[in-house]
Amino acid sequence: MGAYDTILGHHGAIEQLERARSLGRVAHAYLFHGPDGVGKQKVALAFAQALNCEDEEKAPCGVCESCLKIERYNHPDVRLLASESYLVGRGLLEMEKGAPSLQIKNAQLDELADLFRHRPYLGRYKVVVVVDADRMNVNSQNRFLKTLEEPSDESVIILVTTHPEALLPTIRSRCQALGFGPLGREAMAGYLIERHHLEPRRAGVLAAMAQGSLGRAVQLTDEEFLQARDGVLASLSRTLSGDLADVLAEVEEIGGGRSGRDRLEMSLDLMEMWFRDLLFCRLGVDERLLVNHDRTEELQRFTAKTSSRQLLRWIERVRTVRGSLRVNANPRMALEAMLLATRSG
Ligand SMILES: [Zn+2]
Repeated sequence: MGAYDTILGHHGAIEQLERARSLGRVAHAYLFHGPDGVGKQKVALAFAQALNCEDEEKAPCGVCESCLKIERYNHPDVRLLASESYLVGRGLLEMEKGAPSLQIKNAQLDELADLFRHRPYLGRYKVVVVVDADRMNVNSQNRFLKTLEEPSDESVIILVTTHPEALLPTIRSRCQALGFGPLGREAMAGYLIERHHLEPRRAGVLAAMAQGSLGRAVQLTDEEFLQARDGVLASLSRTLSGDLADVLAEVEEIGGGRSGRDRLEMSLDLMEMWFRDLLFCRLGVDERLLVNHDRTEELQRFTAKTSSRQLLRWIERVRTVRGSLRVNANPRMALEAMLLATRSG
């Protein structure tokens, strides 16, 4: 089972899907829910490969033409339905003008309905993976419901979301729900050592701090991320003492080619980890457990200037901005407000 081998954990969910497939009882719609970065979408795509694999014995083999087409997102029967912002961020869509939408649009849902009117072109099943399914407003969800209500034996819809509660009950009730939990620390560390060639101690620290999200752990191994961190830390130290305009300019530089929103999300992650490290320092936690354990001197210096209460408040603020970002706040304004609040304590 080639394609499943690359997935960390979630044996229960995979077993359940495979049992349904082998019995010919694949559901028309699934709801994969659980935290960010644990591999929900990877499982969804591997399942799409299994459903269409040319090698019945080894499905999903991961190497046949069908499996490869799905992996490269160019199988005519398997689609990712996602917001423009998501697709642009992953190089799957180019936009000539205008800012990419954060929401799944009605026109995309109409395309989906169209796809479902035809039989599969190449494979046995048409599979649509709806990424961040909660990024449909109520109107879109109602439109989507019509497609869900007319299932065909040859189509499977997989809704993937970290916020299942944001979906209409009428949608949820038509899906078979599969929960994806956070990943184990040891399994993640093993993965980082094996696939990212990390030194065991570093792998252990990153796995611990990524809080069950492999996506986040991998992000932390990224060189670009480390560079971004330097920028954010420089900004933060200036925020506590210096000029706000400077800080904003700095944050806008972070992350090179990324969109403003991606950059801000990355900055927020970095800030939260920094504040959390400061809190750990104050509490006298083992240095090896810090994400920024290579910056302990600076951490100690900052720690002396803050209180635990203040740090908890800042962490709370970072989370608030992240939340407001989800509902389409202007990234720059959201960040500005947070930095101002941070400065005033
Ligand atoms: Zn295959």
